Amino acid sequence: TVHIFSVASGHMYERLLRIMVLSVLKHTKAKCHFWFIKNFLSPAFRRTITEMAAKYDFEVSLVTYKWPAWLRAQTEKQRIIWGYKILFLDVLFPLWVDRVIFVDADQIVRADMLELAHMDLQGAPYGFTPFCQQPYDREETNGFRFWSGGFWKDHLRGRPYHISALFVVDLLRFRQLAAGDRLRIMYEQLSSDKNSLANLDQDLPNYAQHQVPIFSLPQEWLFCETWCDNSLLAKAKSIDLCNNPLTKEPKLKQAVRVVSEWSSYDQEIKDMAKD
Ligand code: UDP
Ligand code: CA
Repeated sequence: TVHIFSVASGHMYERLLRIMVLSVLKHTKAKCHFWFIKNFLSPAFRRTITEMAAKYDFEVSLVTYKWPAWLRAQTEKQRIIWGYKILFLDVLFPLWVDRVIFVDADQIVRADMLELAHMDLQGAPYGFTPFCQQPYDREETNGFRFWSGGFWKDHLRGRPYHISALFVVDLLRFRQLAAGDRLRIMYEQLSSDKNSLANLDQDLPNYAQHQVPIFSLPQEWLFCETWCDNSLLAKAKSIDLCNNPLTKEPKLKQAVRVVSEWSSYDQEIKDMAKD
């Protein structure tokens, strides 16, 4: 069984999430178990995902964890979601789950997730994909690569800056290294400065790399048009509809333009809801 974890809030992200689920199912030989953070889901989504689980034969569990009183709270919804994505990996899942793969709701998967479930992470507790690097970087957005200079360049000392849209967690190793405690401690320190952790779920694991190592996944595990050259698209194992700071194109528009199978997945789910 492959365990996939995600989060969504709002009508559009719920629609995208169902498509992400369908894309995973269409490419894997494995049995799938999806885990969603309960807090933000609408009753309508809970109904449709249960229907989908019956039709496509997968497991689904809704999970949550009470934000600890001693951990600095977040007030903005987006930042609460980011917190749930990265801060409680060691306590969200039952102990019998030994690996979990986080996938953003706005993703379309094109490969068998079993590959990630079996990948050797070389002792690291988790694996993330680096932001597209040469020869797959995209020239137009090079100016937005904040991690290539200043604070981040000094801090990373040659390590890559990774994207948090998809990551695989070896939960046994993660607990062994007390990675959850380490991340929460660093979060507590860094978040005392309001200008820190602008992208909480991504900045935190990248910042923590010297203490909590990241295994860098092969580049094709994450194509995102904003940062990657089109030559990577044909090989992409997963596509994220990530925001483009230059064009600010809406996600649904980008989906139809970039991902050839997106509309047929969307239709398949609409048809299912009609039955
Ligand atoms: N998300 C959500 N509702 C929101 C914003 C974000 O559910 O209003 C979740 C969703 O899983 C999404 C992830 O947080 O995929 C990361 O946000 P997003 O994909 O919008 O970031 P981007 O790819 O544009 O950088
Ligand atoms: Ca995304």
